[in-house]
Amino acid sequence: MHFEYKLSTTQEGFFDITSQVRQAISGSIIENGIALIYCPHTTAGITINENADPDVVLDMLLGLKKAFPNRPEFHHSEGNSAAHLKASTVGSSVTVVISNGKPVLGTWQSVYFCEFDGPRNRKFLVKIL
Ligand code: ZN
Repeated sequence: MHFEYKLSTTQEGFFDITSQVRQAISGSIIENGIALIYCPHTTAGITINENADPDVVLDMLLGLKKAFPNRPEFHHSEGNSAAHLKASTVGSSVTVVISNGKPVLGTWQSVYFCEFDGPRNRKFLVKIL
C-alpha cells in the first residue's frame, strides 16, 4: 500500500511534509512497521531535520548553495547541475519507524521535501510496510 501526494513548490527550499506522512500512516492498517518516504525527481530530495527553529533549514539550504554553486564548466545543457548535485547529496528517500500507528520522530524532527529547482509541480510517495 502506498500514498501519493502532490506539492507545488514556490522556490528552492525545504517544505515540511510531516503531516502528510502522519496522514498516510493513519490511513494504513499497519500499526508497527516502516514508512518509506520517496521523491521521484532528480532535482529534489527528502530529508529529516529540525523543525523548532526555521533558520536551521534556511542554513542547510545556504550551506548546500555554498557547497554546490553553479559552475560555468558544467556540461549539462539544462543548466541545473547544481540542483542535481544537491538532490543526490540529500538523497531521494528516508525511512521512518512506525510504532503503535505513529511515526517515531524525535521532538524536533520533521520530514522535509527539499526543492532545489523550483518552482515546480512535484509529488512524493509514502509506502507503508
Ligand atoms: Zn537537469
